[in-house]
Amino acid sequence: MKLLILGNGQLGQMLAQSSIQLGHECLLVNTRTNTVMPAGAHVALSLSIEEAMHWADVVSWEHEQLDPEHVALAANKLLTDADKIRPLTHRQLEKKMCDDLRIPTSPWQSFQNADEFRQALQNWQEAVVIKAAFGGYDGKSQWRWDPKSASAAAEAEALTHSAGVQPGIIEAMIPFNKEVSIVGARAKDGRILCYPLVENVHRNGILSHTFAGFEAVDERLQATAEEAFRRITEHLGYVGTLAIEFFVVGEGDAAELLVNEIAPRVHNSGHWSLTGCNASQFDLHIRSLTNMPFPELAVQPTLMLNAIGCTQIPTELWQDARVQAFWYGKDSRPGRKVGHVNVNISSRSGAQALCEHWTPSLQVLS
Ligand code: ATP
Ligand code: MG
Repeated sequence: MKLLILGNGQLGQMLAQSSIQLGHECLLVNTRTNTVMPAGAHVALSLSIEEAMHWADVVSWEHEQLDPEHVALAANKLLTDADKIRPLTHRQLEKKMCDDLRIPTSPWQSFQNADEFRQALQNWQEAVVIKAAFGGYDGKSQWRWDPKSASAAAEAEALTHSAGVQPGIIEAMIPFNKEVSIVGARAKDGRILCYPLVENVHRNGILSHTFAGFEAVDERLQATAEEAFRRITEHLGYVGTLAIEFFVVGEGDAAELLVNEIAPRVHNSGHWSLTGCNASQFDLHIRSLTNMPFPELAVQPTLMLNAIGCTQIPTELWQDARVQAFWYGKDSRPGRKVGHVNVNISSRSGAQALCEHWTPSLQVLS
């Protein structure tokens, strides 16, 4: 089939690689220059977006921030209705969708302007996280506030002029044990396949690393996560790979999952699957769109460590037989994801030690 992907960043490139491997043709739209490009080269083709849309059998995206003009041009070639995923680009609507679907999230309240914000803050007796409704990623457009701190009143006033100036949500700060995500795919004919839950560690609100496949699956939590995945994707009529981030609160039999965020696309916490599984999250997205069979998944314990704000991946890592390194070819600046390494390692403590060893040279956060 012929696939057109909206977006030609690293996610678009990886989707294109899977398309090619699975026997499809693929072109990418550079959404900044509004030009059509082949995979693997930043060269504009002499093909208009309209012509590329006409060429394609299926149109999909690397990121859910879609240009309405592209959506209109793609028409019935987008297998998921773009209007339906719009709530996932707006935190108030995303939270409401979870409430409507009875999928637990952290307690929350919305505000539309500074007056509502000032009022709303008074309802909270414990620490909160404030998030702008639109446009946040990697911990940006987020603020924290603790009503118990000595300077709470002054901070609340300052926040009214930063956090409060746009619509947003206030949500309870969750004392989570860990963060996990489920990444899975739903095919055109409704088949669903999910990876085991993976554990994600964030630094400064940015995903630092993912542990995949080290522990036996907690079947109860896996079933809960897969049920949330099924309810959300069926509600959206979604086709492709999607990720749900959760907080794990409580331990053992009392552990529960609270949804933090839903990403209707391939996701950084699924990058381990490029080397840690017989089918990557990119493969599953393409197989979903083209209605190909899903495989039985064979997962290897894998550490995915992000390269953030550094200028290169150290030579020693490129040379390590356990490592597959991915460099995105982007300009580097502090806090920007520029690559990642997947490490094939069987012990969780060994993976932890590797993180501690390599994080200082691989991650410049600010
Ligand atoms: P992403 O890059 O995943 O899209 P984001 O900037 O959109 O991230 P979130 O996922 O909401 O934002 O938050 C980033 C991180 O900040 C979370 O993974 C978590 O570590 C922390 N965080 C966010 N909300 C809360 C909360 N309510 N309680 C505790 N920690 C939180
Ligand atoms: Mg997140």
